[in-house]
Amino acid sequence: MPAYLQCIEEVCGERQEPGKDSHLCLRCGGLLEVKYDFSPMDPDELRHTWHQRRLSGEPVDRSGVWRFRELIPFVSPGDRIISLSEGSTPLIGTRRAGWWAGPVHLTVKHQGVSPTGSFKDLGMTACITRAESRDVRTVACASTGNTSSSMAAYAARAGMKALLFVPYRQISAAKLAQALDFGALVVEVGDTFDEAFRLLRELAGELDLYLVNSINPFRIEGQKTIVAELMEQRGWRPPDYIVVPGGNLGNASAIGKGLRELKELGFIEKVPRLVVVQAEGANPFYRLTKEDATELVPVDTPQTEATAIRIGRPANWKKAKRALEWTQGLVESVSDEEIAQAKAVLASDGVGCEPASAATVAGVRKLCQAGKIERHADIVCVLTGNQLKDTEYIMRHHADEKSSRLLRAEPTLEAVRRVLEAPLAARAW
Ligand SMILES: *Cc1c(COP(=O)(O)O)cnc(C)c1O
Repeated sequence: MPAYLQCIEEVCGERQEPGKDSHLCLRCGGLLEVKYDFSPMDPDELRHTWHQRRLSGEPVDRSGVWRFRELIPFVSPGDRIISLSEGSTPLIGTRRAGWWAGPVHLTVKHQGVSPTGSFKDLGMTACITRAESRDVRTVACASTGNTSSSMAAYAARAGMKALLFVPYRQISAAKLAQALDFGALVVEVGDTFDEAFRLLRELAGELDLYLVNSINPFRIEGQKTIVAELMEQRGWRPPDYIVVPGGNLGNASAIGKGLRELKELGFIEKVPRLVVVQAEGANPFYRLTKEDATELVPVDTPQTEATAIRIGRPANWKKAKRALEWTQGLVESVSDEEIAQAKAVLASDGVGCEPASAATVAGVRKLCQAGKIERHADIVCVLTGNQLKDTEYIMRHHADEKSSRLLRAEPTLEAVRRVLEAPLAARAW
């Protein structure tokens, strides 16, 4: 098989023995990545094959991950593919948001329409498929919410037990509900994702758990296929920028790897610049790049309403740093207020998403204002999660006095007329 795991640390670079997957380098503890001895490919022929598969009724062809299986050849013939028809998400033009943020030419790649409502499904189908081929019985993760929903769904499908560690009262009700609905066992532990994750990592070996957090390199493989799908949707014309929110930095790492491989394999000439946007209260990666430091300084008590990116110690920062180097990328940091504004502007285009996803558009605006992104640039923002993942956030932002759009009236005609009078007379509400 042409796939193997290798340590990303330059001083180490140890190739791991095939056999049981470890999540970190057995020699130096560094992050691992999946590498392939790709045989030469004919890009035109493969593009045609990928396109043709969209017409197929086969589940592996309908999946936006497995349709591009030549880019992730770690599966052996006969392996069972655990898929829920993930991927194939829309690319939507957002004129108002583009005007607000730039003006730039803005489209969004909406990963929130995946089976469990976030981009995590792309990585999870790959990772659970790998676990299945290794006869794994119990998978586990720590999560800010979406990884849990996704893991629980794919584990259920594979017939595995799913164990999840979440920070106490720090994840949205919808995400927790999904995990429970799919049969996961949930342990609420610690006040932050980082704390829950640390405990899980320490217990994983002892309890014989297969970790599916984004340090699992197979997650990255599934997630990187978004780049191929995106390019295909654009007729293989790369945008100037691809923008993602940054939490644990798995997605940024995956997109960087995807871009690099597509370039090396001859599918694209130009490499778009990767932009990572963090929330101000949880921005260790932003600080690292701003200060041009060599080691990440964690944020001990990460704070942001965008709970999906409330992470102070991003496990994949070294991979993400490399992705920035490969793509001449940028990092920005935005306040919760800026995130809320961006989310509202997207909503005015009819596009709903999670707060963390809206951070991308807020970041574009800030970078444009600073002159780091040029006006009228061609930009794709990756919207990572579905609007309904965090309705508490929406209600918090609309139920206060500031919002004049949540009215209440006594149940009489007169009272209803009265509350509607001013809004109906206004040009907009
Ligand atoms: C997981 C998640 C992120 C952060 O992705 P990382 O790969 O951890 O950087 C952003 N937005 C949403 C909605 C997520 O679920």
